[in-house]
Amino acid sequence: MTDTTPISHNFVAKIVQDDLAAGKVGKVVTRFPPEPNGYLHVGHAKSICLNFGVAEQFGGDCHLRFDDTNPEKENQEYIDAIKDDVRWLGFHWAGDVRYASDYFDQLHQWALHLIREGKAYVCDLTAEQAREYRGTLTEAGRNSPYRDRSVEENLALFEKMRLGEFDEGACVLRAKIDMASPNMNLRDPIIYRIRKAYHHQTGDKWCIYPTYDFTHGQSDAIEGVTHSVCTLEFEDHRPLYEWFLANLPVPCVPKQYEFGRLNLDYTVTSKRKLKSLVDQQVVAGWDDPRMPTISGMRRRGFTPRSIRNFCDMIGVTRSDGMVDIAMLEHAVRDDLNKNAPRAMVVMKPLKVIIENLPDDHLETLSAPYHPDQELGVREFPFTREIFIDQDDFKEEYSKKFKKKFTPGKRIRLRHSYVIEATGYDKDDAGNVVLVRAQLIEGTLGENPADGDNPKGVVHWVSATHSVKTELRLYERLFNHQMPDKTDGDFMEFVNKDSLQVITAWAEPALAGVAPESNFQFEREGYYVADRCDHAAETPVFNLTIGLREDKALTQN
Ligand code: ATP
Ligand code: MG
Repeated sequence: MTDTTPISHNFVAKIVQDDLAAGKVGKVVTRFPPEPNGYLHVGHAKSICLNFGVAEQFGGDCHLRFDDTNPEKENQEYIDAIKDDVRWLGFHWAGDVRYASDYFDQLHQWALHLIREGKAYVCDLTAEQAREYRGTLTEAGRNSPYRDRSVEENLALFEKMRLGEFDEGACVLRAKIDMASPNMNLRDPIIYRIRKAYHHQTGDKWCIYPTYDFTHGQSDAIEGVTHSVCTLEFEDHRPLYEWFLANLPVPCVPKQYEFGRLNLDYTVTSKRKLKSLVDQQVVAGWDDPRMPTISGMRRRGFTPRSIRNFCDMIGVTRSDGMVDIAMLEHAVRDDLNKNAPRAMVVMKPLKVIIENLPDDHLETLSAPYHPDQELGVREFPFTREIFIDQDDFKEEYSKKFKKKFTPGKRIRLRHSYVIEATGYDKDDAGNVVLVRAQLIEGTLGENPADGDNPKGVVHWVSATHSVKTELRLYERLFNHQMPDKTDGDFMEFVNKDSLQVITAWAEPALAGVAPESNFQFEREGYYVADRCDHAAETPVFNLTIGLREDKALTQN
């Protein structure tokens, strides 16, 4: 069962609820602030569910804001993919998409404000010198020799930086806070850098770019964000976040709260590492069904509901933890079991000839798409020659295989008749290649009149009227539980057998389904019509997940 603990039980929702009750805020405003330097992954889904979820729950707004202060690493493809992913998960951002770059003018004004107040200075130390001056966790830093430049000199130098008169790295603008602070983030942090880079939103307008720290809180303030929720690694940045808000004439003062990142075992969730999997062509792209990206999970056949349920299940805590990937798989399976239509596909075909039917027998049978949901009915052809799975026939009866088909024994064809095996043929290698059988009259939806009831039910398709389909069978991308937490390179743990492509035979209705339709292929697993490659003439389905967690249990 999916644990649908109401979101209000998480600590962020509790804070919001208390702030609303105490009248501290009138309307809650949150934001999801991705950097468009890669595709979103399952960890981002947690942040999306939290930020959009809390806003939704308390009648507030959640903004989608691109944190776009690193033009060299960002691009439009990522922006488009991120918007798609958020929409696909079922969330709606308030107003237009926003960009931190929309605020570059304001941020520049605020940088000037700090300079005029004597709280920022242009520093010419090289990166290496700056590191030396910065001190260590146990040792205070030293003031930069440029720290006491006059306001006029700083204004003039900063203007020259803006006009492109200095090379990249020649100088930076720093906030003047405290080089002896035990919090390294407060040791005169950089607020502007020279980057002679074209920006996807602002073009060539700027050659100086604000740092993340100088951008984030002020963007929150401009947008009237009330609760700025981020992951724990920003906890140490909170004093700086608050320092900027306290020292600038901002329109409001948002508060930052931190929660634990999602880490999933058998998975890497770092955009840099995911990008190297794409760049080194270990996978077919960011949306490869083996990727833990939202678009990868989508292509794999995970549903938005299953991902949202998973995020509810794992909850939100103040500490980082490792989540068992089986929880995600459970959420997917649970949702698909409840909601995915059923269909029959034979993967290892064994031909059965039902000899008491005429050669041209063609009967249309039908069955509901789902055992207990109103998903309609599909029709499929029943013919003299059918395919069943090779594993469902045994040459000899044994107690272990008593549900199987053997000569002299009966089996029920799912949604069809009972048949009895009368004989079989083998090839030179000793494999059974053909089974001969008799149809037992009057057994469509009824037990045989003679009381000799079949023990098992098998899936099947018409041998002459089924459609050939490509199946892409995916397994975990990594064969190590913590691929990026060892001494070695995470790439060493890529599972080389994580994709297998096979051909299977499907009931005809499957060819015509829309891409991204989810199914349970009865007794085989959950599959989805591939979002990109599935077409009526060339059906392609991806394995989403097996029927049960323990493969051994799927044997019957
Ligand atoms: P990466 O480290 O993979 O590059 P990031 O944190 O730099 O990711 P951003 O685009 O800055 O990526 O993230 C947008 C938001 O998503 C941030 O608020 C961040 O805290 C959150 N986020 C990123 N990764 C996770 C995660 N694993 N679990 C929960 N939230 C996450
Ligand atoms: Mg980030």
